[in-house]
Amino acid sequence: MKTGKSAGTEFRIVCPCCKTSRNLREVSKVLAQVVPRVRDDEEPVDLLRGTEWGCDHCLSSGLAVMAKSDCHHLGRCGCPSWILSYYDQARKCARCSEPFVFTKEEQRYWYEELNFYMASVPNECAPCRRLIRQEHSGTRRLSVLIPRFKRGETELLETICDIYIEMGKTDRAMQFLAMARRDHAKSASVLKRIKTIKDRIKSKQSE
Ligand SMILES: [Zn+2]
Ligand SMILES: [Zn+2]
Repeated sequence: MKTGKSAGTEFRIVCPCCKTSRNLREVSKVLAQVVPRVRDDEEPVDLLRGTEWGCDHCLSSGLAVMAKSDCHHLGRCGCPSWILSYYDQARKCARCSEPFVFTKEEQRYWYEELNFYMASVPNECAPCRRLIRQEHSGTRRLSVLIPRFKRGETELLETICDIYIEMGKTDRAMQFLAMARRDHAKSASVLKRIKTIKDRIKSKQSE
């Protein structure tokens, strides 16, 4: 290993995982990982600055896990990925504002299995992400079903409203029913079904 200004035992660096000040002997595992990447004008320990890594204690206790950085997807900028270890990251959901944890296991899955760009991180908590996926699939289904309804397939009325309800958009379901009511003002059977759905939505809203 290279020696130099960072070789002194008094040298200390704060572990980003446990926030504890460590000396060089206590960060030997990540240092061993960066050594092959060190250029002549760099010190191995310089490569730890501004990166994600865990000290030997965090790695052996399982608070942090070593990243397999050779399978990281770096993105177009081509800048090297400097996540050397994963550890749980506290984040705040952009949708519901609740705190959530982007776990080290999820990070490994994102960057090593799904091959996501290193710069991508979850902005929403898991339940919100599930809702967003549901909304996307609901929107896709509606974009097919509503034109068919407009072409006369009135039996899709309930299905369309159920998708809106599933997406939590009861106001949109009501707007759709108002539109259907105008278009089918002469059909007693459609009007009756619209009324039934409206009552169902209203009782849901008052829950
Ligand atoms: Zn640590
Ligand atoms: Zn959320």
